[in-house]
Amino acid sequence: MSDSRPELLAVAPLMPFLMDQLTARYTVHDRIHASDPAGFAQVAPRIRGVVANGEAKVPRELIAQMPKLEIISVFGVGYDGVDVAAAHERGVPVTNTPEVLNDDVADLALGLLLAVARRIPQADRFVREGGWPKGPMPLARKLSGSKLGVVGMGRIGQAIAERALAFRMDVAYTARSPRANVAHTYYATAESLAAAVDFLVVITPGGAATRGMIDAKVFKALGPDGYLVNVARGSVVDEAALIEALQSGTIAGAGLDVFANEPNVPDALRAMPNVVLTPHIGSGTRQTREAMGQLTFDNLAAHFAGKPLLTPVDR
Ligand code: NAP
Repeated sequence: MSDSRPELLAVAPLMPFLMDQLTARYTVHDRIHASDPAGFAQVAPRIRGVVANGEAKVPRELIAQMPKLEIISVFGVGYDGVDVAAAHERGVPVTNTPEVLNDDVADLALGLLLAVARRIPQADRFVREGGWPKGPMPLARKLSGSKLGVVGMGRIGQAIAERALAFRMDVAYTARSPRANVAHTYYATAESLAAAVDFLVVITPGGAATRGMIDAKVFKALGPDGYLVNVARGSVVDEAALIEALQSGTIAGAGLDVFANEPNVPDALRAMPNVVLTPHIGSGTRQTREAMGQLTFDNLAAHFAGKPLLTPVDR
């Protein structure tokens, strides 16, 4: 059934807060392209908008199936699953949700730094499992005053650096080029940055340009007293090389929010005592997810009202 309201394809599960707002104004086909390809073929010619999330795939072939597509609105700041070039070739803008999640992702990065350095999850298990009466918890690693390397000094990277200063950390960073507005020491490569710091936090976009950039050479440079925190995308870290580096003691430990093949986390990582694992919850607070949902909705509303988009990704 179609009505006069614009028809949208949701290519990912959307939170009720967003879905309720969308269904009040649009006809939403919820993941029909995956669940019912024949049904999708019927509605595809009418689809005017796609709603995705940071992990969703919107490849060229899918875009090509929707001749009336006008906009792709991504619930998330990372849009590496969307073929932006294919969309832009068709004149279809892509929007994302920058800024509103900076605090949460930076908070989690600091949380993971504290968790791996001070071994907070391990200490919690130690108490629960009755280890304390048998003797003290082994000593941990001090975070305050140590050296932090940030890989990707963008919106979230700068929010991480800001927080690290409160811990009197000495902050340095890498990106493809130095940032004029950032006073921290710049290193041209992740490897040279890793060699200079105690903790390395990765917060670049995913996608082809950053795939596997945190590799065995970077781990060797980080060294046996060094820790990795990844809150970017699983693809940015060579996961096999990371497992090898952790198993061999090439690095001391890792805090990981993102993985190569989510939601599947390699058994080797799950078994390691020097690793803290979280299930891609960087922006996972009610407050921030609602703000992201609102921005996803507002971009669509602006488009269908003929107004300028709030947060289009660069053309
Ligand atoms: P942003 O403002 O665009 O910053 C990205 C930074 O990465 C910039 O400093 C950029 O600098 C650098 N960069 C880009 N490509 C690079 C490359 N090939 N090599 C080295 N550095 C590179 O983005 P943001 O808003 O901070 O978000 C960053 C990423 O965080 C997102 O794209 C997403 O993947 C991830 N994220 C994860 C979660 C989570 O739940 N864990 C939540 C939100 C976001 P140059 O352009 O100068 O290279």
